[in-house]
Amino acid sequence: MWIVAARCQVLIPVIIAASYKNIVTMAKIGVFICHCGENIAGKVDTSRLVAALEDHPGVAVSVEYKYFCSDPGQESVKRAIRENNLTGVVVAACSPRMHEATFRKACAEAGLNPYLCEIANIREHCSWVHTDSDMATEKAIDITRSIVEKVKLNNTLHPIEVPVTRRALVIGGGIAGIQAALDIANAGQEVVLVEREPSLGGHMAQLSETFPTLDCSQCIMTPRMVEAAQHPNIRLLTYSEVESVDGYIGNFKVRIRMKSRFVDTQACTGCGDCYTKCPVKKIPSEFDCGLGKRTAIFTPFAQSVPNNPVIDKANCIYFKNGKCKLCVKACKFDAIDFTFEDQYLDLEIGAIVVATGFQVQDTAMYGEYGYGKYADVITGLQFERLASASGPTAGKIRRPSDQKEPQHIVFIQCAGSRDPSKGVRYCSKICCMYTAKHAMLYTHKVHGGKTSIFYMDIRAAGKGYDEFTRRAIEEDEASYLRGRVSKVWEENGKLMVRGVDTLLGRPVEIAADMVVLATAMVPQPGAKEFAKTIGIGYDEYGFYNEAHLKLRPVESSTAGIFLAGACQSPKDIPDSVSQASASASKVLALFSKDKLEREPVIASCNEATCAGCWGCVLACPYNAIEKKDILDRSGRLVKQVASVNPGLCQGCGTCVTFCRSNSIDLAGFTEKQIFAEVMGLS
Ligand SMILES: Cc1cc2nc3c(=O)[nH]c(=O)nc-3n(C[C@H](O)[C@H](O)[C@H](O)COP(=O)(O)OP(=O)(O)OC[C@H]3O[C@@H](n4cnc5c(N)ncnc54)[C@H](O)[C@@H]3O)c2cc1C
Repeated sequence: MWIVAARCQVLIPVIIAASYKNIVTMAKIGVFICHCGENIAGKVDTSRLVAALEDHPGVAVSVEYKYFCSDPGQESVKRAIRENNLTGVVVAACSPRMHEATFRKACAEAGLNPYLCEIANIREHCSWVHTDSDMATEKAIDITRSIVEKVKLNNTLHPIEVPVTRRALVIGGGIAGIQAALDIANAGQEVVLVEREPSLGGHMAQLSETFPTLDCSQCIMTPRMVEAAQHPNIRLLTYSEVESVDGYIGNFKVRIRMKSRFVDTQACTGCGDCYTKCPVKKIPSEFDCGLGKRTAIFTPFAQSVPNNPVIDKANCIYFKNGKCKLCVKACKFDAIDFTFEDQYLDLEIGAIVVATGFQVQDTAMYGEYGYGKYADVITGLQFERLASASGPTAGKIRRPSDQKEPQHIVFIQCAGSRDPSKGVRYCSKICCMYTAKHAMLYTHKVHGGKTSIFYMDIRAAGKGYDEFTRRAIEEDEASYLRGRVSKVWEENGKLMVRGVDTLLGRPVEIAADMVVLATAMVPQPGAKEFAKTIGIGYDEYGFYNEAHLKLRPVESSTAGIFLAGACQSPKDIPDSVSQASASASKVLALFSKDKLEREPVIASCNEATCAGCWGCVLACPYNAIEKKDILDRSGRLVKQVASVNPGLCQGCGTCVTFCRSNSIDLAGFTEKQIFAEVMGLS
């Protein structure tokens, strides 16, 4: 037995080496080295690369070209495949994220299975990150050779076909979510629109008038909200949240929690008798940013959609001590029931649009500006509520401290944005515009009122935006001071603002009646956790990542999940609406097919060697691996093995690393291929 074993140890490598040699001799690989203009050729000596690959075993063609992704470039790849009967293609170029699909398509058109084509990334992984030309060239040779070794072992693969559920989920009922839902629904497809607050509307419902046209926000928003709520193809779930998302493009399984309002929305007519009778009247209204008050049973604002109230359990007397029920007595329709509980809804969904928006930055970190200490230091969003006809002062600009009309307001731009010390390095994009708008609204309402605006730069890129800020200066006499504010304090009933005017090169001190902070636009609270729940990527701040910033700006990193609005980055209304319509068009394109083709990069298990340890079952993040019974001829259970569901597998490869018996492999990335790639580096 020992002799046999010893022989096997010698023989097996010999057999493997022999068959590998066979593959090597049979291989006819074409290597196409792209200059990518100066991007690669500016650093890597491409002629040396061509020569090095020419001599590499199994390489039949080694050529270079300025742009292989161009039409003539692709044509030359196709021609080389046909003329040389190539068995594999390696394109040494940019990242596979950029052009893998392009070249695989070209190969398929030339009759070569697309999965026999691979990209050697000599741009992002080489020319872009190295300064020494010689060493970069050596590295490019290594990278390309290693991919050639992998391609020699590539197998033909075929896309997997999966059915598509033609129902879209839109998460977030601000302007972006509403627009996406309406576009999809108007094209005849079913939409489930989920909003976590009691009403649709998001931030736009809170705004007074909107730049650059100064049209009333509610007037343009409310009809959209009503249209979405009444649309026959839209199922509106407000006061609801997505609990989990499983599955994959075309076939997501989504669980939604519908939080209890304690109000039967079918019976409720929205008459408002309940909240007029509610004895708890002094709760700061979230919608009015704390400047107005609400009751314990409430609708967020007069035009709420749906117009059904919700009971705030934490502040309701009945929930606190079991007494009261004045709202129940007031309701003529028996719509209020304190025993109602949250409900769960499980839905099959084909595509998801995430439109969860933003929040304004927590002002607690701006101690130097006195927010929270002085009642008349407010945020831009609070100013919107003061200026809004439906706001707590019915549109009159009044100081929160004494309800007097302020005669001089200081606006501080970039309160948070572009400030690394406060953790926000980016520009919030909308603050220059809304501050100019606030200055205009104020002078339209308070004739003779004075405005001083501290700014770093005026960023007004957008249709009609520069004209708008100029109008604030020229027609409404807004006084712009280029510089930062160091301190705000109270003195003799005034807010003293100390800053510097860097254009005049001198310190300034202004006695103001009110200070308005243009706080940064930051991700929603819990944005990162929510991204993990639905399985999409996010940046260092928590804004959701697009698949490619330039070429796939509305797709998330997960197939079938799209992005719309300010959840991706700070955006104004026109940009949010455009992106929402773009996402909707992606969803509709997906729904235009009966079946979807998925990458065949999925795991499979060798049942003969599987030891049934279930490490893979525990490791799989997509629940794609099940236990399968292996029966003998008489139907007796012989053993249980791991079995991969190809519909659920996302090809992440986690199971492969967990498999102790080396029984699981990933198509397109088999252990042999990976080893060959690594060995190709030496
Ligand atoms: C002070 C101020 C003034 C502005 N003025 C203007 C202006 O004049 N003109 C202009 O063009 N733009 C203006 N803007 C920008 C404008 O508000 C935004 O462009 C717009 O609101 C973005 O819309 P959205 O739908 O992406 O996000 P949002 O309006 O934030 O809506 C997101 C929605 O998603 C919901 N949501 C969040 N998380 C979840 C979840 N997990 N599940 C379900 N629902 C969720 C939220 O409750 C919300 O309803 C202003 C912004 C501010 C702060």
